[in-house]
Amino acid sequence: TVEVAQLVAWLETFGRLVHEERDHLTALDAAIGDADHGLNLDRGMRAVVERLHADRPATVDALFKTVGMTLVSTVGGASGPLYGTFFLRFGTAAGPVDELDAAGLATALRAGVGGVVARGKAEPGDKTMVDALEPAVTAYERAVGSGPEHAAAAASEAAEAGRDATIPMVARKGRASYLAERSAGHLDPGATSSALLLRALADALA
Ligand code: ADP
Ligand code: MG
Ligand code: MG
Repeated sequence: TVEVAQLVAWLETFGRLVHEERDHLTALDAAIGDADHGLNLDRGMRAVVERLHADRPATVDALFKTVGMTLVSTVGGASGPLYGTFFLRFGTAAGPVDELDAAGLATALRAGVGGVVARGKAEPGDKTMVDALEPAVTAYERAVGSGPEHAAAAASEAAEAGRDATIPMVARKGRASYLAERSAGHLDPGATSSALLLRALADALA
């Protein structure tokens, strides 16, 4: 099972990876967006980790409600509401529990991705974070029988493959879509940060 403390470790690790990769994420966004993705997410995750250190909720739904609302209120730009929705839906699907089994984590992850798609209307192939998140959750679901640790590792690998697959894509959602064909040949910043989210989960559960 996965306890609240491990889910907090997931968020702390994501925050650390985003901080380490802040300039890289921002440089990716400079190429096809407005050069703020790393700054946006670093600001948001710092606020999340500070909030959790001040007051750590005891249940999974309360934890992720805090995370989602903090991201929505501190991250300007498209990625704040999208990551915020991911975590809010994740928490709602998990419910007022203090641990998740492998299947419960699968349900929560699937609900989170569903929230991103419902909110942003991006489909796979549109060169967005969905291109990393969707294959990651599918890989998690396929590996769920081998336990959360193995499933998260599979999800992380799939997210990284999904991230890399955004390079040749032409963006159809978000600011990068303004560049049309000129968006091809670049990694999507949001898919890159989403791969960090799954890397952080795999690390936290290992
Ligand atoms: P902004 O574009 O408002 O400056 P960010 O730079 O923080 O916001 O985030 C950009 C990332 O958000 C993109 O790389 C893409 O992955 C993601 N994104 C943008 N629009 C959408 C959407 N409609 N659905 C899913 N992801 C999106
Ligand atoms: Mg941007
Ligand atoms: Mg912006």
